[in-house]
Amino acid sequence: MPSWSDHPRGRTRTAEVSLACLAMSFRPEAIKGTGETGVIDYRLARQQVIQQFRKGRLSRLDVCDAHPELRRAAAAASQSTDEPCPICEDENVNLVTYAFGPRLPAHGRCITKASELAKLSRGRAQVACYVVEVCPACAWNHLTRVFHVGGGS
Ligand SMILES: [Zn+2]
Repeated sequence: MPSWSDHPRGRTRTAEVSLACLAMSFRPEAIKGTGETGVIDYRLARQQVIQQFRKGRLSRLDVCDAHPELRRAAAAASQSTDEPCPICEDENVNLVTYAFGPRLPAHGRCITKASELAKLSRGRAQVACYVVEVCPACAWNHLTRVFHVGGGS
């Protein structure tokens, strides 16, 4: 199982790492919201980030930092919503689902089809699915929910 005990914000902009390198290192920790250990309600965590932004305590650079891999997925393999981006309000956010688990790549598998999810659900291994909202315009991103499939459940 991936560990997300480290706070992701501490590691996001440490250096000028190449995009290719970033893509290679994509982990659940790259998803904003996974670092709030113990926060079950991701909507609440999301609200807190948005509030901090509106109060000026977080900059656009802080909150609009979607991992390049996430942005690619948001453009190519996402589900659109009618929910406007809470930061730029220019576009609606897209939902991207990543599955992490045994026999899946360490960087997760981006789920693009319902049939893929159904297949994972029938599997013996439990798989954690992370649903992330991403704004294609400004790169705002936040974990929306986590659910588990498979494992005989
Ligand atoms: Zn936006």
